[in-house]
Amino acid sequence: MQIGNRFRCYPTPAQEKVLLQWIGCQRFIYNAKVQEDRYFRTFARKSLDHTGQFAPIDQQYSQFKHPELTPWLSEVPSQLLRNGAAKWMQAYSRFFAGLAGRPTIQAKYGKQSVWLTRELFSFEPIKDETGKVTHHLLHLGTKKHPLDCLAFTAHRDYALPASIHLSIHAGRWHVSFNYDDGIAEPSVEEITQWLRSFSTAELSSVTLGLDRGVKIPLAASNGQQFDFRAIEKKRLTQQEKRKKRWQRRQARRVKGSGRWKKAKQRVAQCQQYATDLRRDFCHQTSHALVADPAYKLYVFEALKVKNMTASAKGDTEKPGKNVQQKAGLNRAILASGWGQIKVYTQYKALRAGKLCIEVPAHYSSQECSHCGFTHPDNRHSQAAFVCQSCHCTDNADTNAAKVLVKRGVALMLGEGVAKKKVKRARVKKQKVGAECSKPAGANQPTLVETWVNRPDGNILAYRSMKRETPATTLCV
Ligand SMILES: [Zn+2]
Repeated sequence: MQIGNRFRCYPTPAQEKVLLQWIGCQRFIYNAKVQEDRYFRTFARKSLDHTGQFAPIDQQYSQFKHPELTPWLSEVPSQLLRNGAAKWMQAYSRFFAGLAGRPTIQAKYGKQSVWLTRELFSFEPIKDETGKVTHHLLHLGTKKHPLDCLAFTAHRDYALPASIHLSIHAGRWHVSFNYDDGIAEPSVEEITQWLRSFSTAELSSVTLGLDRGVKIPLAASNGQQFDFRAIEKKRLTQQEKRKKRWQRRQARRVKGSGRWKKAKQRVAQCQQYATDLRRDFCHQTSHALVADPAYKLYVFEALKVKNMTASAKGDTEKPGKNVQQKAGLNRAILASGWGQIKVYTQYKALRAGKLCIEVPAHYSSQECSHCGFTHPDNRHSQAAFVCQSCHCTDNADTNAAKVLVKRGVALMLGEGVAKKKVKRARVKKQKVGAECSKPAGANQPTLVETWVNRPDGNILAYRSMKRETPATTLCV
């Protein structure tokens, strides 16, 4: 399976200067390819000279090397520039595969990285007295452009990669390895087949439902709750305050000046703290979930985080209401790391031979996990759930997670999930006095539910309305 490692590295000031130059040159080639492609696609079809020609999609970059216009491109290894063009080609092939949009201009600000292939770096093994390799030295550069040894700290074991990425963000450098460890990963189909051989009771006992929320980031159906520690919450608030203070300072300083750049970097550092903390929380939580040998199937509710965190701003004609409150909720949703926890659990589960699926989320917080009675009154308060039908009580988040287990098991064993009741107002459009000979139920849309195994390991439910072709009846 593919393994990715990201280690902190510490270039010297001289190395840092050269690496930044490398990053800039590779980005220049990438952006030049993007612009060239845009030029061809906009003008080629209009100009007679280019009639019948397609925009070239290749890895050529020599046209951008000019002794007077771009002399700096000759100061860096040419393999770097080729990698820039190759990166653009890869991005384009992702577009053709339907995985992404067309390549776009890479910004000069924010996270920056450079892709180095085998010709641009080498590993030198360092052995101890017994002849065992303890660590490696990473040499950068070519014969013509040597860059000496780059110091990095490996916090875990690694294999030697075929290519590396060097990146800088918020003043910190990282080196990323990517390699195949040779261990075969079980496919989603194999695990699904295996889980389908279970009975309902067996599968229910090895299934863990996971309810994501704003108050508690993650609640499991076995009663476990995952949340940030008190000290972490305190530090997050402190960093948020510090960030706001530096943002105010940045706004007052002259744009582009040295003091402005310093303030900008401080803002990025405060932001980076929060990002690191959340990523760490998501990794630890997903690891704890998958490491539990009692569970084989993890069920999340399908949340459209992007739609849920849309702004309430509206437009000039129809200004939205409660924009600030909605912005606060959005921030809380994004801060809970909903998406990240799911993505991490998915790939970690697959490595462990387990499965992570999504089920429709409708009314999971109002449904009773014992009797299935669904009503808004069941939700007594934010935390308490009291069923109005069977009077059982539970923690609201735990109950929702148990409902997800039921749905996940039903989905796996092919029984499907109870459909959401579609409320629809019926409008009769008939002329006064007219008599319509339409048979009852004709031309009424029916709800069709399809389950699809997605390549990323999700099983997704699509609901679509199907309407039969209208019967040819005439209303006079
Ligand atoms: Zn009940």
